[in-house]
Amino acid sequence: MNFSFTDEHRLLLGVVREFVHKELGPVAARLDKEARFPEEQIRKASEMGLMGIMIPVQYGGSGMDTISYVLAMEELSRACASTAIIISVNNSLVCEPIFRFGSEEQKHRFLIPLARGEKLGCFALTEPQAGSDAAGLKTTAVKKIGRYVLNGTKLFITNGAHADVAIVFAVTDVTKGAHGISAFMVEKGTPGFSVGKVEEKMGLRASDLVELNFQDCTIPEENLLGKEGDGFGIAMITLDGGRIGVATQSVGIARACLEEALRYSKERFQFGQPISGFQAIRFMLADMSMEIEAARLLTFRAAYLKDRGLPYTKEASQAKLFASEMANRVAFKALQIFGGYGYTTDFPVEKWYRDARVTTLYEGTSEIQRLVIARELLRT
Ligand SMILES: Cc1cc2nc3c(=O)[nH]c(=O)nc-3n(C[C@H](O)[C@H](O)[C@H](O)COP(=O)(O)OP(=O)(O)OC[C@H]3O[C@@H](n4cnc5c(N)ncnc54)[C@H](O)[C@@H]3O)c2cc1C
Repeated sequence: MNFSFTDEHRLLLGVVREFVHKELGPVAARLDKEARFPEEQIRKASEMGLMGIMIPVQYGGSGMDTISYVLAMEELSRACASTAIIISVNNSLVCEPIFRFGSEEQKHRFLIPLARGEKLGCFALTEPQAGSDAAGLKTTAVKKIGRYVLNGTKLFITNGAHADVAIVFAVTDVTKGAHGISAFMVEKGTPGFSVGKVEEKMGLRASDLVELNFQDCTIPEENLLGKEGDGFGIAMITLDGGRIGVATQSVGIARACLEEALRYSKERFQFGQPISGFQAIRFMLADMSMEIEAARLLTFRAAYLKDRGLPYTKEASQAKLFASEMANRVAFKALQIFGGYGYTTDFPVEKWYRDARVTTLYEGTSEIQRLVIARELLRT
């Protein structure tokens, strides 16, 4: 694995860092407090080409590699994990599958505006009765002449309230289990498609999480992504890439925790000395930095394999599993270093602690990552 970044990587990093420093970081706490979608920040991110980082320029993207995506996501997550997940979903879970499985016509119709950030996308797999068991979907798509009619409910959909396009997974053949699931692109405003309950959540409060309802929602047959029955495979392949996004998000949150804990430990005096002088605090800081570095390297490894077209399912799950659990440990330690102040909203650690929590849950829980890793290990 090559550890040196290209000029393009360094340039991107510089641009994203400036955006984060000037525009995103200063408003992150307020967005979280008000649970407000970062419209303005997403518009700027679109102008910077961050909504379709890995999509070729001809399809509206920035034509960069997965390492670039990882670098950008870490910086964004360090400042505002909510904004980062909004961008991550659009990149990994929406643009990527359309680029990979969409027809030329679909790429022109859907991908170009999504990758340019003119439109926002969401990925609608989870249902009330189908979370980890994603093959147990109940939403149906019945084929009629020239169209499909969708009925069902999707739950916990990031970007759902703001998205212009939803990638929706539905059963087209109940007799075929996972092979009877298909993927569709459904546009906002399609009759029968509506946003239901808006979740009130513990972290990532500036990103929306909603229920989507489909009631005799009729879409043209041209909106089928891939072939009928390909949907479950498309979802799983897409989630492999998405897990790299969650891994780097976790690294970004953890880095924020470490940087603030380092600063605070030098400024906070107890027993006549900075708390950074106590070995107990130093050991926590040392462990935090080591774990962050390990998670970052696992994430780069998965991205490196993906960029070379090599298998990376196991590596993406390993990165996501380790990085997400690491972020929770690091946030815990950072809050410990802040003492009682860390528990208040006057300091940012309590927000990062809340934001970190979801990383072991979404895009496959830690338990599901362990299942994936073990399955891949035992395959050979
Ligand atoms: C903030 C947020 C954003 C999300 N965004 C999206 C989105 O954009 N699109 C989308 O489709 N979904 C999204 N989700 C849904 C998310 O992917 C699911 O919550 C997740 O897959 C887990 O499903 P579940 O919540 O139904 O838990 P369950 O599947 O009910 O799991 C409950 C517990 O049982 C464990 N478990 C389940 N099966 C097994 C097993 N076989 N072996 C061992 N343990 C098991 C789980 O690990 C977990 O600990 C989001 C969720 C959240 C919280």
